[in-house]
Amino acid sequence: MDKCSFCERKRSEVNFLISGVSGFICDECTGRAHDIVKEENNQNKQKGKFDLNKVQLKKPKEIKAFLDQYIIGQDDAKKTLSVAVYNHYKRLSVKDVTKDDVEIDKSNIIMVGETGTGKTLIAKTIARMLQVPFAIVDATVLTEAGYVGEDIESLLVRLLQAADFDVDQAQQGIVFIDEIDKIARKGDNPSITRDVSGEGVQQGLLKLLEGAVVGVPPKGGRKHPEQNMIQVDTKNILFIAGGAFDGIEKKIAQRLNTNVVGFDKTASENIDNENFLQYVAPQDLKSFGLIPEIIGRLPVITHLNPLDKEILRKILTEPKNSIIKQYKKLFKIDGIDLKIDNKVYEYIVEKAVEYKIGARGLRSICETIMTDAMFELPSKNVSEFKLTLKYAKSRLEKANIQKIKVA
Ligand code: ADP
Repeated sequence: MDKCSFCERKRSEVNFLISGVSGFICDECTGRAHDIVKEENNQNKQKGKFDLNKVQLKKPKEIKAFLDQYIIGQDDAKKTLSVAVYNHYKRLSVKDVTKDDVEIDKSNIIMVGETGTGKTLIAKTIARMLQVPFAIVDATVLTEAGYVGEDIESLLVRLLQAADFDVDQAQQGIVFIDEIDKIARKGDNPSITRDVSGEGVQQGLLKLLEGAVVGVPPKGGRKHPEQNMIQVDTKNILFIAGGAFDGIEKKIAQRLNTNVVGFDKTASENIDNENFLQYVAPQDLKSFGLIPEIIGRLPVITHLNPLDKEILRKILTEPKNSIIKQYKKLFKIDGIDLKIDNKVYEYIVEKAVEYKIGARGLRSICETIMTDAMFELPSKNVSEFKLTLKYAKSRLEKANIQKIKVA
């Protein structure tokens, strides 16, 4: 007689039996087995989780020292972010302990700096250090509900995905909103320009930045058809926004000049005209077209400096996982010692500046120079490869410059 091999109940005593190679399992035992697997998986996941109570939060100086290993320069941004992140997680950890009414506000951050200066890298590195879920969202794809594009809640879907749909973890994660400047309205004055989409997205972002419980439609949630929305509380999610804010220097310069004219001559003399970004203030973001409410919810402002040749040169070789260190490792695996002339570094940097592709372009230039060697050498019996200026030039001149630029 057919019976469940686990609980030994007969076919007549259960809803149905599923047959296997040499036995059966009933519907109830399947359910129980599923629960056990889920529980076991959860426990395993728990081991690698970010847990505020267990994690000894690094002090701002330690956070910055960690960032220093990966990010060259940008001291102001690294310092500001270290403090903001420290305060954010401190705020979470003391919340239950303090019985007074002092509630520490959220310290969402906004970073202003040209593209490719390290904004994403800083945010990513912090998330990696804390081992919290991290999602990058491009503000340009967000639209108001009802328009073509992604709903604003989609940024929480990304975070949930990064957290393996563990809501608790996602609720302590970090979201990096890139290109926040692209949703600025076109003018400072709301009554003149009605740039509905940008301003609408800004409005939509408000409640997420501040902290709200939001129903998120789980994408790829086929396994739970009964579950329509996942409720995510954004109260403890740290939002870091970044943008190039092209042309904001002019607005900063204007403000600085109007402020000092006729009042204090020495103040204007102390202004560094080469880099206005370092003076960026909330009112400049407002003149650029962010609505005051958004600016209020991104209270920590910092800037990133443009990368000069000296910094680019350092980026090539100094970070813990610098591009050059990566190539050396790749060659090493094949038993090849990669030796690079100093002049090659200078050449790569010059080309990155000439093509105006910044730090992001360093890799594509290196890739173009190295591809032939990486193709040929593993099949040859060599133990060393000397990369000379002549070789580097010959490879790059042969290459399609447009391809490098696009990359
Ligand atoms: P952004 O977000 O500002 O546009 P990214 O952080 O994406 O720029 O930077 C692009 C790449 O350039 C990074 O992945 C990194 O390899 C390199 N890079 C940029 N700035 C720095 C820096 N200050 N230190 C080290 N690497 C950098």
